[in-house]
Amino acid sequence: MSLPKNITVLIVGAGPAGLTAALSLAHHRCHDFVIVDAVVEGQNVSRAFAIHSATVEALASIDAADGLLSRAIKGKSVRITSRSSQIFEVKFDPLKRHSVHPYALYIPQNVTELVLGQKLQSLGVQVHRPHRVVGMKQNEKDSRITDVSFEDGQVIRARYIIGADGARSIIRTIAGIGFSDPEGPNLANNPLTQMIFADVTFEPEPVDPLTLEGHLNATVFSGNLFILLPFGNRFNAALTRDGEPTMRSVFRVGCGVPLKNGEPLHTPPKEYIQDLIDKYGPACITSDPSLNPTPVKVDQLVWSTRFRTHSAIADRTFTRFGAAIFLVGDAAHIHSPLGGQGMNLGIRDAIFLAEVITKHIQASVENPVVDDIMLQEIADVRHARALEIIGFTKTLLNLASFTYDSYAWWMPCSRASIRDLILRILGRFDYVQSKVAWSLSGLGRR
Ligand SMILES: Cc1cc2nc3c(=O)[nH]c(=O)nc-3n(C[C@H](O)[C@H](O)[C@H](O)COP(=O)(O)OP(=O)(O)OC[C@H]3O[C@@H](n4cnc5c(N)ncnc54)[C@H](O)[C@@H]3O)c2cc1C
Repeated sequence: MSLPKNITVLIVGAGPAGLTAALSLAHHRCHDFVIVDAVVEGQNVSRAFAIHSATVEALASIDAADGLLSRAIKGKSVRITSRSSQIFEVKFDPLKRHSVHPYALYIPQNVTELVLGQKLQSLGVQVHRPHRVVGMKQNEKDSRITDVSFEDGQVIRARYIIGADGARSIIRTIAGIGFSDPEGPNLANNPLTQMIFADVTFEPEPVDPLTLEGHLNATVFSGNLFILLPFGNRFNAALTRDGEPTMRSVFRVGCGVPLKNGEPLHTPPKEYIQDLIDKYGPACITSDPSLNPTPVKVDQLVWSTRFRTHSAIADRTFTRFGAAIFLVGDAAHIHSPLGGQGMNLGIRDAIFLAEVITKHIQASVENPVVDDIMLQEIADVRHARALEIIGFTKTLLNLASFTYDSYAWWMPCSRASIRDLILRILGRFDYVQSKVAWSLSGLGRR
């Protein structure tokens, strides 16, 4: 598909952040935009799986939540467990005092992208694929325009550019915006900096409250964390990339891989996942009869990946490079997936930023040299939100990586056992549960 030569807004990247930016522009009646992506449709894999209350509300505000609400599992809680018992449960129900969406939506990221893409299509907008941005320079005749060049030689002249092109953003790089951990790289030795995620089925299917739909389980182990999320079988067709979709229930599992174990393969095989489940997973999904009276084994490995996590934030979310340039989503900030905040923050960035861009476009119709104050203000707000969330995920990461080794010679108990004891006690108080649900929901930091 050939690209237009001139456009008001160019969105680079059609991941969740780029798609939502497009939906928000369209909702605010800005139609002079294009959205491009480097890869052909369908190459994005599962990844993020939680959409929190604040993000559902933000999506509803641009009329883009219905498809997700009808497809997703309405998550009731996050349970923190040891391998055999529950330590703490964060129930989302108390959020009903603050939101009409008192739940987290559990839905694989590729389905989220599919649903957002379908909504965009229904508004008459197509993502232009595959078109990879390779260069950007200020237009020689108009100082408020940037010429964006593509791998195939095409050039688009744009007045606003939304860089939604992920953690390795070319827009960020060419605009000369730095990207680093706000506190310096201090998590290098944390075992949870290296993780695997996989979608699996079990034989026989496990029967345990932990494996019921609607609950995300985080099992703490010495220095490690194991995530279990039952998807049931509602996403099987979308999750199965090759071959016939499985008829069985699919479970998302995620686990830290201790650095001393070396780097897992890019696509860890079934045996590797089984080994991690048996070492760190909740007893009810292990194949070890000494832990699980009804042992189960991984039957089908639907998808798997390994990844490294670290935190980084762009020095600026907005700059002028001829056009007004914004970074949203992973292009602007990355951090650990604990707490499931990354994609949520990116979606909310895109919704709020696109609204302000629309106002700026309208203002510039009346005054072609309108200043950038409103653009800078929203960029500062999004930057501050990202800093808060990076701090929040670092706290979660630190808490999750406590070990059961004795803390010091003068203290016979471990930091992990003290953490668990405190959580077990605090978990009896509704007030504490509500506060944790509130923190995860994003309602306090939209
Ligand atoms: C394994 C894994 C697990 C994760 N788990 C979670 C989780 O549990 N919870 C959570 O909230 N987040 C999680 N994340 C993070 C989450 O996936 C990201 O926050 C989210 O995808 C960011 O969306 P985005 O739209 O900003 O960027 P992306 O999804 O990375 O999309 C960027 C898009 O830009 C396109 N692009 C890149 N370069 C160019 C170019 N030069 N020209 C044109 N197009 C380009 C790419 O093709 C891509 O489609 C996980 C990430 C990974 C890798």
